[in-house]
Amino acid sequence: MDLIVSNHFSRNEPGAFEALRDALLMHGHSYRHLADLRSYLEAVQRLTRRYADQDAWARLAISNVARSGESRVPACQMQRLQHYPCGDFRKKESLTMTGNPSSVIAAAVFDTKPYDREALQQASANRGIEWHFLEFRLTEDSAYAAKNARAVCVFVNDQLNRPCLEVLASLGVELVALRSTGFNNVDVDSARELRLTVTRVPVYSPHAVAEHAVALLLTLNRKTHRAFNRVRELNFSLNGLVGFDLYAKTAGIVGTGKIGRVTGQILRGFGMRVLAYDPFSNDEWAKQAGVEYVETLSELLRTSDVISLHTPLTRETRYTIRAETIKLMKRGSILINSSRGGLVDTKALIEALKSRHLAGVGLDVYEEEEGIFFEDLSGDVLHDDDLARLLTFPNVLITSHQAFLTREALSEIAHTTVTNILALGSQQSFVEGSVVA
Ligand code: NAD
Repeated sequence: MDLIVSNHFSRNEPGAFEALRDALLMHGHSYRHLADLRSYLEAVQRLTRRYADQDAWARLAISNVARSGESRVPACQMQRLQHYPCGDFRKKESLTMTGNPSSVIAAAVFDTKPYDREALQQASANRGIEWHFLEFRLTEDSAYAAKNARAVCVFVNDQLNRPCLEVLASLGVELVALRSTGFNNVDVDSARELRLTVTRVPVYSPHAVAEHAVALLLTLNRKTHRAFNRVRELNFSLNGLVGFDLYAKTAGIVGTGKIGRVTGQILRGFGMRVLAYDPFSNDEWAKQAGVEYVETLSELLRTSDVISLHTPLTRETRYTIRAETIKLMKRGSILINSSRGGLVDTKALIEALKSRHLAGVGLDVYEEEEGIFFEDLSGDVLHDDDLARLLTFPNVLITSHQAFLTREALSEIAHTTVTNILALGSQQSFVEGSVVA
């Protein structure tokens, strides 16, 4: 029996592929390298997450394949596979795109979820895009799946480092269309050098993210997540559910771009005093909204009862919240991060929670979220000890990068993405403000 091995194995887990190959050969199996079997890739990803021990992992991979046999592989794919000699899959075809007429643009969509598929299909409405929806993420290994595509469409946890971009460029991909605002996962300089255009979604409902940030704050403060669970178990006790009035308390907004400004306005609506820090202040907005800019981040951290982060992740903003800045924060304050996980040093955060320096933390993002957030791991073992620790605190509320997830935001993201992809095949320009490389 042949085993079809995704190159994912060899890249993501050094030594694991060799372990698997040796075990296979020992059992008299042969193996093939291939990247285009989504079902198998998914199985491998599940195994990757589940088994740190490589021998056990190899044994399981074998039994998994032996159990499922060729039935997992669609017949048409299987036929094509018979023709592939073993060896480096990079030389081989990896996607079944049709090499369509030039008026139709093939776009490979990585890390597709059902809501992405629906929104993109609706937004394009047969307007000349041949979508190839792939459920796995884009990495330097899976980039070969974009063969024949002129555009790739990616999200926040796809990894567009230089090797990945080199593969895309070598395949003739012209456009990387991000379905997100942030683009910290793209090596922009390399993209420029490789003449790949990179676009993002510069604006989509900032209300979606701001409202979610405030939802985290309200839930944490009034402990509605705990109350919900208690009442369902007929525990009507109120012990431990005491919160505080937001009214007349001070909120600190770090980053007053589109989302930070909406968050500030909502919090003003609660009657909070709102302070803001941003090296590029927007004084007119501040005056209108009744928000006060402070000169330094330290001043904001020292004065605020609630701090909400709304900056992009850059070299400068990485670990904005770390041991030394946490010390500046008021004892008993609440931190909300709906921006990017890397803004917060998780280990320092855990220490601050253990010492009760922080009264609550609401996170929609996490620095090691890749491979965890957006996935159903309910039947798996969680290998991330920091995340596991965070989940044990009653005053930590984590959502899985869902702040953007409203109907309005999805539709706006899809429209910008489709417009930018269609611009490839026409004289039309890309959506204003969307080109980052
Ligand atoms: P934006 O570009 O409109 O605003 C970012 C603001 O941060 C700018 O005003 C900028 O001057 C400011 N800034 C930059 N460096 C700073 C620093 N060191 N200190 C203080 N301010 C600084 O971006 P936006 O649309 O408001 O989005 C903000 C971030 O939210 C994005 O970069 C993205 O990471 C995140 N986001 C998260 C989700 C989600 O689903 N959780 C969705 C969309 C965006």
